[in-house]
Amino acid sequence: VNPSCLPAATLQIDLGAIRDNWRLLGRQASPGVHCAAVVKADAYGLGAAEVGRALFAEGCRSFFVALVDEALALRTVMPIQARLFVLHGALPGAEIECANANVIPVLNSHDQITRWRTLASRLGRRLPAALQVDTGMARLGLALSDALSMDASALEGIDLQLLISHLVSAEDRSDPLNAAQRERFGTLLQRWPGIPASLANSSGVFLGADYHFKLLRPGAALYGVAPTLGERNPMRPVLRLQGRLIQSHWIAAGEGVGYNHAWRAERATRVATVSVGYADGFMRSLSNRGSLHFNGTAVPLIGRVSMDTVTVDATALPADALAPGAAFDLIDEVHDINALAAEASTNAYEILTSLGPRYRRHYINP
Ligand SMILES: *Cc1c(COP(=O)(O)O)cnc(C)c1O
Repeated sequence: VNPSCLPAATLQIDLGAIRDNWRLLGRQASPGVHCAAVVKADAYGLGAAEVGRALFAEGCRSFFVALVDEALALRTVMPIQARLFVLHGALPGAEIECANANVIPVLNSHDQITRWRTLASRLGRRLPAALQVDTGMARLGLALSDALSMDASALEGIDLQLLISHLVSAEDRSDPLNAAQRERFGTLLQRWPGIPASLANSSGVFLGADYHFKLLRPGAALYGVAPTLGERNPMRPVLRLQGRLIQSHWIAAGEGVGYNHAWRAERATRVATVSVGYADGFMRSLSNRGSLHFNGTAVPLIGRVSMDTVTVDATALPADALAPGAAFDLIDEVHDINALAAEASTNAYEILTSLGPRYRRHYINP
């Protein structure tokens, strides 16, 4: 990439806002409760190395990724004091890489426990691990009954640092599953007293102190995702996404725009073509929905979203504004990832993790 040429699209990531969000999450809990950071999927698309280092500097010491490969990559850029947990644990054969890199697997099954214990015995040293117990998600983790009846010898040679479980619908305060899961998790802690525990994802942090235990485990809210349905979003927006005008032109009433002419002009219309498409994660479900902003003025998206472009109705904009290269906001503080997710009929997690590799990434407030 030639750094001096005008980038087709720029993704601005505010590390200061991410640090503020991490502190705000930590302030929800009592002193003595630590706030971790979930940076799986490249920190939800925003850059695990950049986010990880910024939050380490802020005092964060525990980080969660999903895959061993993510942890190995992060290990090379993070200080050794940072604990890196792998939510999926290690697949057969990958245990030794975890041990060598000082990466901590979350053990989710008897099989994973056995393989980790076997490696500890072979290496002749204690190996750190977390244990995940299923309290309702039915996705990963040991069945609660198995965890309750498990003999301590099953964990011989394992330095058990953390007990975790994951909430099913924490964003919905009224769901009785929240309290049911908390209750089940509580019985587990009685079986394993003295081991630090972690239950709350972003939304769980806002369910109250009962859900906090020793370690908060937020991901999405760090990046500006609204944690609780139907409530004001307390998180700061982190992203600004700008595309560029490639060309604009007039079409007559009755003419169609884009694939299958999914939009048809009712009057003479000035069409502006902007350099972002569904290959960049600007989802095709936004076709004929949603809007871009030009200097704060909303311009409706018209026709289908293409792979590399979107078209907007720019008729209302001043004619001299539409010079090639002019910037259009696709995500900004007002029209944020939560608003975009609603327009695209998905959630803000999918918006974040779909942001493609073609943007020029620009980190501010490092
Ligand atoms: C992704 C994930 C989190 C973070 O969830 P958010 O809703 O993004 O805060 C926490 N714990 C587990 C097990 C996860 O998979």
